[in-house]
Amino acid sequence: MVDKLGDWARTHTCGQLRAEDAGREVLLLGWVHKVRDLGHLVFLDLRDRHGLTQVVFEAEGLRDRAKHLRAEFVLGVRGRVRPRAAEAMNAKMPTGAVEVEATELKLLSEAKVPPFVIADDVAASDELRLRYRYLDLRRPALQANLGLRHRVTMAVRKYFDGQGFWEIETPMLTKSTPEGARDYLVPSRVHPGEFYALPQSPQIFKQILMIAGTDRYFQIVKCFRDEDLRADRQPEFTQIDVEMSFATRELVFATIEPLIKEVFAVIGRDITLPFARMSYAEALARYGSDKPDLRVGMVITDVSGVFTDSTFSVFRDAVAGGGVVRGIVVPGGAAASRKELDTLAEEAKSLGAGGLVWVRRSGEAIQSSALKAAGEGTMRAALDAAGAGAADLLLLASGPADATSKVLGQIRLSVAKSRGWLKTDEFAFTWVTDFPLLEWDGDERRWVAMHHPFTSPVEADMDRLEENPGGVLAQAYDLVLNGSEIGGGSIRIHDTALQRRMFTLLGISDEDAKLRFGFFLESLEYGTPPHGGIALGLDRIVAILAGEPSIRDVIAFPKTAQAVDLMSTAPTPVDARQLRELRLRIEG
Ligand code: ASP
Repeated sequence: MVDKLGDWARTHTCGQLRAEDAGREVLLLGWVHKVRDLGHLVFLDLRDRHGLTQVVFEAEGLRDRAKHLRAEFVLGVRGRVRPRAAEAMNAKMPTGAVEVEATELKLLSEAKVPPFVIADDVAASDELRLRYRYLDLRRPALQANLGLRHRVTMAVRKYFDGQGFWEIETPMLTKSTPEGARDYLVPSRVHPGEFYALPQSPQIFKQILMIAGTDRYFQIVKCFRDEDLRADRQPEFTQIDVEMSFATRELVFATIEPLIKEVFAVIGRDITLPFARMSYAEALARYGSDKPDLRVGMVITDVSGVFTDSTFSVFRDAVAGGGVVRGIVVPGGAAASRKELDTLAEEAKSLGAGGLVWVRRSGEAIQSSALKAAGEGTMRAALDAAGAGAADLLLLASGPADATSKVLGQIRLSVAKSRGWLKTDEFAFTWVTDFPLLEWDGDERRWVAMHHPFTSPVEADMDRLEENPGGVLAQAYDLVLNGSEIGGGSIRIHDTALQRRMFTLLGISDEDAKLRFGFFLESLEYGTPPHGGIALGLDRIVAILAGEPSIRDVIAFPKTAQAVDLMSTAPTPVDARQLRELRLRIEG
């Protein structure tokens, strides 16, 4: 039999009581975390979002009722706060100095035996935890993540409000937006055979808001992309979407950097501004990635010159063929074990490199996996050229420039990870700028926009668009934190003629452009301010702040890598009637 709540209202949360509350009459409401029946006494930890409080049942009638309570039952307890005996104090619990001696108990809800214990060191599988997400969310770590996410969104809203931005909602039922992924489609019942698309981003709408004179817009907004899910992607995710009129890149940076500072202040971290900057070309050459992780050094250096006339044919031929020899220096890496070196060489091969050559000093001598072929003199010169000291290890690879840097970039991260150098509480930011405007899609045999088709070329390249599409740089930028892209944006095209030229370059016919973006092209003709913006990935930012490896842990109801919600079981088939109304038929 359960009791009614009646007029019971809590006086305190389960995380609130302290030594100075001793003597107070209190009323707590929460879940049974644990029951310990000592026979003459029953101890119970009562839990809510705020913490745990120990309740003791001593009086005979109450004690007997308490013996029947089980984990996850929902209770109300009235009682008196008293200090714990010295030996029972728990310094690890914020409420560990006190306990509540129960005088009245209400059982508000019973609970089935949960499929896993509600504790942070839960051993249950991910599937089970997602299926019972409401139980998983009761764990303190996930509660803390949701709380953190809330505080971050509040900080974002406050910041933008202070900067004169308006939060404006854009439609969820809309027309395809061209972010390059597949759309989620929603059939229209009223217009059979026609579909809305869920937005991949509010890109066109936020640009139209600039045309509409709203000047400064932001939105914390769900976006939908129907991609084959790569690790740690979600089909629906949240962006902090931003657009500003009369924006230059500098204005966007100067607006976003203090925002990030505010967001990190939420976890008590003081981020140093301004952020580092590097061009896309530099990021690729020096870090082998357009998302360089700057928590560690090990910058890729080019030592091609050392090998042009060497006896080591693999490297010499690579350079002669227009390629490069590049390397990274692992500080203190000279002591690496054979096993570690072999594993790295294997990894380099699996990444497509011919191999990975290592070189180190051993007293006066030189050791290297290619010592015989290259000779001591050349390898010594390579160590010197790369700036490797007595205790360091040099890792070398050869081949085409970009591919070689990419392999070394991965090796750099593997080394850093295995040596514990990628600290989750260290934050290294950089802007990556000057992306190419276009990249060649070999499958489709056409140029595609590297960001999206509304990104402006740099002013100096505007006249060279048709002449050398691959060489044109974009006014696009990414914000990278610890090797993750946490945001990306650009200065937009605000001129109809340029926008049309861009579509032509992308192989989008006038007719097609009109069909897909006609309303937008038309709006551009009615007085468009120069504008630009950015979108930041809220899920990723909160995951990094929380020190969680997966964005799943900072989303209340995430989907699996197969885009399934294991709790609601969506997606599911629908009734024949629903399909008929939509005039849809399922084939096969
Ligand atoms: N719409 C872009 C995105 O979702 C961001 C932007 O250009 O502002 O990635």
